[in-house]
Parts: sequence; structure tokens; C-alpha cells
Amino acid sequence: MRLEPTNIQQIGDELAIAWNDGTESYFKLEMLRRACPCAACGGEPDALGNVSRPHVSYADKSFRLTGFDLVGGYALQPRWADGHSTGIYSFTYLRRLGEAFV
Ligand SMILES: [Zn+2]
Repeated sequence: MRLEPTNIQQIGDELAIAWNDGTESYFKLEMLRRACPCAACGGEPDALGNVSRPHVSYADKSFRLTGFDLVGGYALQPRWADGHSTGIYSFTYLRRLGEAFV
């Protein structure tokens, strides 16, 4: 079965994703932004869920979401309040993130 979200909702400072296999993932927006997979932010969590990206600086609004788009049926592209929106989070990446940060 192809992994797809059936519902995506921002609840407070978390993004909740319901998947089509009946599970749900919750992401703190700050964690989600720090895990941004775009080239400028760089990197993904290692096997232990640690994310190291030393050259990125954040402001408060970096962790606020103004909206998001679904890209190509395989990914979520969040739009952050500081104007950053180049991060494309594939569903499998999100799923893995959700498991790394529970
Ligand atoms: Zn980024």
C-alpha cells in the first residue's frame, strides 16, 4: 500500500498527520523545521534521531507555519512564517521522523 496522509491538521504548535494505514504522527513544528530536508538546511536525522545542522539560524517565526502544500502526491511542503518554503518532506521521511521523535 502506498503511504499517504488522509488528514493533515495543525493543532497548536504541532502538526498532526493521519495516515492511510490508520496510524497518526505528531510533529512539534520546531522539530519539523529543524528537520527540514532542503539543501540549505541540509541533512536528515541519523539512526538515533539526532539532527545536526550547524549553519542554520532560526528565529521565532521560523517555527510558525503559515500553510503547506502537497507536492506531487508524495510529499508535504510547509510554508514557514519566516518565508522559508523550499523543504519538501516526503511522506516516507515524515513517517520516519514521526517514529524517531515519539
Ligand atoms: Zn530548509
